[in-house]
Amino acid sequence: MLWHRKRPEPAAEHDRIEPAALPLAFDDELFRRHMTTLLEASQVDGGIAAYLESLHAKQRLVGELLEADALDALDEAHLEKLLGAVFTARRKLFPVLVETGAAATAAALRELLYGAAPLAGRMSAFVAALPIRDGDGREARARAARLRRAAHDLAAEALHFLDPVRYPLMTRWVWDEATMSGALREFVRGADQTSRLPLEARPETFEAARRWMAGEVEAQGVYRDVPFWVDLVQAAAYAHYFRAMTGGVLGSDFTRASGPGGEREEVARHRTRAAGRKVAGGQGVSNPRSVASEAMPIHEKTLVDPNLLLQTDKLVVDGVDVSGHWNTMILPRTMTDYDPDFYKTIQALPGGENVHRCWQCGSCTNSCTMYAINTDFNPRYWIYLTNLGFKSELVKDKDIIWQCVSCNKCTNICPKDVRPEGVMKALAHWLETEGTRRNPGPRSSTRNSRASASSAAASRTPR
Ligand code: SF4
Ligand code: SF4
Repeated sequence: MLWHRKRPEPAAEHDRIEPAALPLAFDDELFRRHMTTLLEASQVDGGIAAYLESLHAKQRLVGELLEADALDALDEAHLEKLLGAVFTARRKLFPVLVETGAAATAAALRELLYGAAPLAGRMSAFVAALPIRDGDGREARARAARLRRAAHDLAAEALHFLDPVRYPLMTRWVWDEATMSGALREFVRGADQTSRLPLEARPETFEAARRWMAGEVEAQGVYRDVPFWVDLVQAAAYAHYFRAMTGGVLGSDFTRASGPGGEREEVARHRTRAAGRKVAGGQGVSNPRSVASEAMPIHEKTLVDPNLLLQTDKLVVDGVDVSGHWNTMILPRTMTDYDPDFYKTIQALPGGENVHRCWQCGSCTNSCTMYAINTDFNPRYWIYLTNLGFKSELVKDKDIIWQCVSCNKCTNICPKDVRPEGVMKALAHWLETEGTRRNPGPRSSTRNSRASASSAAASRTPR
């Protein structure tokens, strides 16, 4: 007779977290501000889609390691991998888990994730199951307290990334009742005027805050990946909070601050850590790519036509040498050939109905099959031109726009349901009906696409 071990009931079946009544009001405007900061920060790091994908990758990792069946096989290497994704615990907690042993840690995790006791009690029990001893003296007690906080964060992240819809993120950087600090403070207007906020760090409070934030995200027209959007906006808010408190940059374990660093860069750093990845360049060291991008924000850089840049190699004015980039001037560009109603023309064509919704996050271009082989293929840019009404600029790209292969990656990822693939079709349709047919030539192989694209790019305004 074959015996099959009964799978444990997932805790989620009975973990229905009823949101508490919030004892204070969160502020819509503050939320939108942090969401905007997040979107700006994402530009230097591959777009918001890259951020979301990081969180999905973390979810996959946690699923692989902590699904009920996988827990039986948990070993030391798995524990190291798991801790690697929990930045507030990764450096501190590994020796504790090694001392606990893989089997006992797996048992504690099983009870946490699939046990029947109330959720808050299971989280406390997980921390208590680890061999963290107070020891003698202030230093030893402080060390034990740090380890317990790290264990709490591990429990919180395990729950959230195993089931992001069911469990809000209950880490200390979201809200730490003991120190009255965390991202939630950033959504309360006037919080900087008081040291106390009546927010309890219990699942019901986290859930209430999370539901409010999910409503705010959806109010911005985002309906996909809402739990992860909430995480990311909270990460942006926490980076802002930390900077306001310390004037510095987050250490990877929240214990130190260093360097000046702009807020956008800091948001990108904290988002990277929240996704469980190490920050490029090490702790407290600027990410060179971020700094370079900050020197000239992407939209400005792409909108300057080199023909409008004036620069004299050798120039002395009133005895002062202002040669080279010191004397750079940008000639004004007067635009008169735009049609503010053009987007309605595209809306009226099949596929173009939602073109007005675009908020220029760049996720479509970032995910685009054609962009991967030809960086001149840029759906975000063409949607931008459409909404501005720059038909003449669109016509310059008539030889590229039709190359869309209808893979729909852009449509799947677009947070505003613009359906960029449809817009590409509508634009191609419009280009045909306006009599601006593409140049004759072989329909693309990859090599031909590149060749035709680069020749077209040579005559185009930079983007
Ligand atoms: S079409 Fe969608 S994915 Fe592309 S930039 Fe606009 S909002 Fe972002
Ligand atoms: S459908 Fe077209 S625009 Fe969208 S990702 Fe695919 S190739 Fe790019």
